[in-house]
Amino acid sequence: MAAKSLRVAIIGSGIAGASAAVALKAKGIRADVYEQAPVLGEVGAGIGIRQPSIRAIKKWGIFEEFDKVTCESPRMQIIAGEDNVIIEENWPILTDPTERFPRLIHRADLLDSLTAQIPADQLHLDHRLVDVEEKDETVEVTFANGKKIEVDVLIAADGIRSPVRDKVLGKKEPVFSGYVAHRALVPFDDALGMACEDNTLRIYVDGDNSYYLLPLLNGRRQVSVDITIPGENELRPVYTKEQLLEGIKGFGPTLQKIIENIDMNKIVSRPLSDLEPFDVWSTKTITVIGDAAHAMLHNQGQGANMAIQDADVLADVLGEVAEGKSTVAEALKSYEEQRKPITKLYQNLSRLFPTEQAKTAFPEKEHLEVGK
Ligand SMILES: Cc1cc2nc3c(=O)[nH]c(=O)nc-3n(C[C@H](O)[C@H](O)[C@H](O)COP(=O)(O)OP(=O)(O)OC[C@H]3O[C@@H](n4cnc5c(N)ncnc54)[C@H](O)[C@@H]3O)c2cc1C
Repeated sequence: MAAKSLRVAIIGSGIAGASAAVALKAKGIRADVYEQAPVLGEVGAGIGIRQPSIRAIKKWGIFEEFDKVTCESPRMQIIAGEDNVIIEENWPILTDPTERFPRLIHRADLLDSLTAQIPADQLHLDHRLVDVEEKDETVEVTFANGKKIEVDVLIAADGIRSPVRDKVLGKKEPVFSGYVAHRALVPFDDALGMACEDNTLRIYVDGDNSYYLLPLLNGRRQVSVDITIPGENELRPVYTKEQLLEGIKGFGPTLQKIIENIDMNKIVSRPLSDLEPFDVWSTKTITVIGDAAHAMLHNQGQGANMAIQDADVLADVLGEVAEGKSTVAEALKSYEEQRKPITKLYQNLSRLFPTEQAKTAFPEKEHLEVGK
């Protein structure tokens, strides 16, 4: 099958779906992306992009744009109280010796740098998938606006509540952690000297409660503030300033002051849920990537990274189909076999909260080796 004749659709244009479109484009494969939202948007928060993801971004030829909006981060600290540094550790190189440092980025900047690469006629907003039916060798998808498409490969990048996954692989219920993350971006100076000018990611801890300060010093001069405290599993939770201050009363006075100063309209609260790892990710023509495949808690900062790395592997195996070296079914099987061990590892490790008892900021070090 020649590259131009492989019809690929991606459902969802979050980090996973946009990454898949870019990775496939770099392989010369056209993929159409269908997103239910009428406009693209991302939660205002910073994330760390790890070395294997940076290598993928370089491979896709979009590093220059990414470079402008990221900063290298040398290390992570876990801190009790206001200044008792329990752990200070360089980011581990682990699976990718070609990149020394991870990079910190605002999620919206990451999504923008990915979607900017998708040709306008391949990004279909306001397209909510309502049905999917697998035929012999193809898939038929129906959208709420009445449009129908038929493709050779369907990539479900439709998030933790993936409707595609639930229809074709069986329903998977998200598991609520009991915690809610409250996140906001503040100007660097509003972090009151608690964030690092050298881009060290700081995690302040109080039992299982955590308070992240992630600097975003390239392109912006901001800090991503992220507090994780117990809460309810509500779709769109609304908290008062008093409730947040009560939740963080075990943290030091300056950390409390930072939250006191933030306008509540700027704080996005989200209950934290993940999925139990599951065994079958694909049918003959349909597969899942990103949170649809392996939603994990944010404690190891790996959800978006795993999505980017899924996209890279998936594009590689579909590239072989396009070259006539394998079938779609073989490619999807190979993709999920390559990706399941590491995503399962991070799903499990991400259930560990950073605490005063932590021996390392990077528990994956015990499980992974450079080059493995
Ligand atoms: C507090 C917090 C901090 C985090 N920090 C980090 C970090 O530091 N590092 C890291 O790597 N990860 C981090 N993550 C995780 C990361 O953000 C997610 O894993 C990642 O964004 C998931 O991307 P996704 O594209 O798979 O899913 P989503 O972003 O959920 O995208 C799914 C898309 O599918 C669309 N969709 C859904 N249903 C349909 C439908 N029926 N039809 C059409 N479209 C549909 C949705 O509208 C959405 O745009 C964090 C997460 C949280 C909550």
